[in-house]
Amino acid sequence: MLITDQVAFEAESSLDVAIIGGGPGGSATAISLREHAPSLSVVLIEASHYDGVRVGETLPPPARSILDHLKVWDKFCRLSPREVFGTSAAWGSTIPADNDFFYMPANRGWHLERNSFDAMLAGEASERGATVVLGASLDDFEQSGDGWRLSLSTGATLRARFIVDATGAAVFARRLSARFECLDRLVGIVRFFEGDADDSRLFVEAFEHGWWYTAGLPNGKRIAACVTDADLVQHLKLGLIDEWERTLASVPAVASRLQQCKPSGALVIRSSASRRLEPVAGENWLAVGDSASRFDPLSSQGILKAMRGGIFASYAISSRLLRDDDSDLCRYRCYVSEEFKSYCEVRTKYYRDEQRWPTSAFWRRRHSANITNRSANGANITNRSANGAKYNSQGQARSASALGTNLNLTPQP
Ligand SMILES: Cc1cc2nc3c(=O)[nH]c(=O)nc-3n(C[C@H](O)[C@H](O)[C@H](O)COP(=O)(O)OP(=O)(O)OC[C@H]3O[C@@H](n4cnc5c(N)ncnc54)[C@H](O)[C@@H]3O)c2cc1C
Repeated sequence: MLITDQVAFEAESSLDVAIIGGGPGGSATAISLREHAPSLSVVLIEASHYDGVRVGETLPPPARSILDHLKVWDKFCRLSPREVFGTSAAWGSTIPADNDFFYMPANRGWHLERNSFDAMLAGEASERGATVVLGASLDDFEQSGDGWRLSLSTGATLRARFIVDATGAAVFARRLSARFECLDRLVGIVRFFEGDADDSRLFVEAFEHGWWYTAGLPNGKRIAACVTDADLVQHLKLGLIDEWERTLASVPAVASRLQQCKPSGALVIRSSASRRLEPVAGENWLAVGDSASRFDPLSSQGILKAMRGGIFASYAISSRLLRDDDSDLCRYRCYVSEEFKSYCEVRTKYYRDEQRWPTSAFWRRRHSANITNRSANGANITNRSANGAKYNSQGQARSASALGTNLNLTPQP
């Protein structure tokens, strides 16, 4: 059932799982729950109607296997995502280096229109039997019996045995005792453009205070973003259009792709700090996607990671609710921790490849010895999370694992 307006639930609707947030993480959790534990009732509560600005647009090649796993590949193709066959990065040098996806198991990635993509996933969750409520956000909650009582902005209340925080900002979990452990204060200052030239390639270019990227989107649109630290945005006035444009002119590989394009809309600033939630799950709740951990946009892994995490989360939830078995919740915590540690190692390597501005605050922060994973638990991991990243370091390991992880995705019997 898709509830698209301010329609209240029946008073005190009672469900097994309430998922707060209908981004890729929340919707993948709902789809996978309905697939693997159809006896569980699921509600997906999304604040928007998928009509605002959404940032984060590149799906790397390994995403194909996740979309297949969720059985949404055909619907995904019907959105006409723009195929991309590689990246070009002026990183460590003014001369851009090309990295093709040719040798990856799926040899192409995709640029998305995020509202359509996120709405497609939520629609799929609805078709699989989840109740999807749009235009409603979580206002308040309290523990009640062995579950939760939630109050929504629509005035509706509902009870759920288990909560998934998929808000991207851990809105629910941080009102319990969970806290973010942050590695940096990265932000993206984004502008959309119309009238894209033909090249769908993703261009990345480092500059003294961070890096820029641009990507061709579906429907002849293009995105360009300056990525730097929040304090530097203020110091350098990069939130002002004139200064943003002046700095753009200093990154020729990115700027040249925008010459034929007209800006559409104002600058949009989004936090993209690398961080991990601790703890990432409790007895009858867990966090997925950016609520659980967030990666630097340089990795182009956020959407893929959110969907993959949602699939794992669904197994943990079904074990907990159907068999009273917490072992998969423990595995889920471990999975998020290992994944983040792996990401931190790759992040360190990428940023160390750029050494042209040794006195810049942005680069010094990333070259200092202590930036690797302050929070993960020391488990043995590999560099598997960087496939299809905006910037690929030479010699980057190409994952052979179909779902980009060495953890078992098969639901427990
Ligand atoms: C500049 C930039 C560039 C990026 N580039 C890429 C890229 O190229 N590739 C990539 O894979 N990732 C990229 N990302 C990251 C990517 O966008 C995120 O990792 C991804 O969206 C995370 O998905 P999610 O479902 O966890 O959270 P979100 O997509 O943030 O979804 C959260 C949802 O919860 C809803 N919500 C929030 N609060 C409430 C509430 N209280 N009640 C109900 N609903 C609520 C929101 O409306 C939203 O729909 C980029 C990010 C930035 C900032």
